[in-house]
Amino acid sequence: SANIEIAGVSKIYDGGVRAVDAIAMDIRPGEFFSLLGPSGCGKTTTLRMIAGFDSPSAGEIRLDGADITHVPAHKRDMAMVFQNYALFPHRTVAENVAFGLRMRKIDKATIATKVKAALAMVELSGMEDRKPAQLSGGQQQRVALARAIVISPRVLLCDEPLGALDKKLRQQMQFELKQLQKALGLTLVFVTHDQEEALAMSDRIAVMNAGRVEQIGTPVEIYDQPRTRFVADFIGDTNIFRGQRVTMDHGIGIAAGNGLLLALPDNIAAAGSEVLSVALRPEKIAVAPADPVEARSKGMSTRGTVESTNFLGGAVLYRLVLDSGHRILVQQPNSGAPLHPPGQAVALGWRPADLVILED
Ligand code: ADP
Ligand code: MG
Repeated sequence: SANIEIAGVSKIYDGGVRAVDAIAMDIRPGEFFSLLGPSGCGKTTTLRMIAGFDSPSAGEIRLDGADITHVPAHKRDMAMVFQNYALFPHRTVAENVAFGLRMRKIDKATIATKVKAALAMVELSGMEDRKPAQLSGGQQQRVALARAIVISPRVLLCDEPLGALDKKLRQQMQFELKQLQKALGLTLVFVTHDQEEALAMSDRIAVMNAGRVEQIGTPVEIYDQPRTRFVADFIGDTNIFRGQRVTMDHGIGIAAGNGLLLALPDNIAAAGSEVLSVALRPEKIAVAPADPVEARSKGMSTRGTVESTNFLGGAVLYRLVLDSGHRILVQQPNSGAPLHPPGQAVALGWRPADLVILED
């Protein structure tokens, strides 16, 4: 495994498209590191520059401290798995997996041993003589993975490798890929536009938007402490409130309009800006039938009406409209308690500490 540093890297394609704009990241040895962002944000371009298939217009890429910005792909000790697998259709599974070893002029006996071991690792033993068309999508993906790991790369690069699989198989492959990565101690850079997949698999995530890195952090940091509005919005569901900063009886708050006043946590009382945006996750909001006495005693002073109730199995998702007119999402674990039906008047409460101040 290896350390990859990306320092001030940009990519401007012919015609002037700035696909990647002065990004910086430090990917640690043995880390499962994801590039997450919407289509077109520069994930593939970044991965291709790490691989050496594309060269940066500016900046430097280092592998264990050595500048590899202009080292050709085949000398980088990295392997890449592509979204469409890119298998050779007329060659057998074993021939596909052997490809990288043959390019490296390794002797036949060693190739046979290594191919066997790689296929065992992805649980495809016995499939050596099949052609790709005789395999399921999941099996083809495993062949692509075996072909990548057979050369014992120090870095594995995966570009939306599970994108074509259905949900069950995808979750299975997520688990297996993570196991394999840890077992081999590989540094793995994983590209996905699927935030759930990134949260579930990664040690750390770089959230990208329009060629830039918005935030780098662990899944918990990215989810609980989004730095920008884009990150808060892109990762999971969130409620965003924006308004004038006001002084309240106990500290600072936000006047979000139509009488909705949100108390901010004490530790950010010093925040400088006059207009503030905050994020509040749906599962941080408590909801109860609007019994005036009970609600007040629980500190649930915000009122609203249920617009829709979606039973998700493990949880219940409510769309509500507050008396102030703000529309919000609330998610509650399914505790077996009766659901709040559409039309019901409810009281809502949350802890000021669960509000996260956003940079715009
Ligand atoms: P992602 O993988 O996040 O979907 P890409 O890295 O593929 O994004 O693309 C980033 C931007 O660069 C997009 O606007 C895309 O259209 C553009 N782009 C990608 N490849 C090329 C290319 N070879 N020539 C010109 N523009 C490109
Ligand atoms: Mg892409």
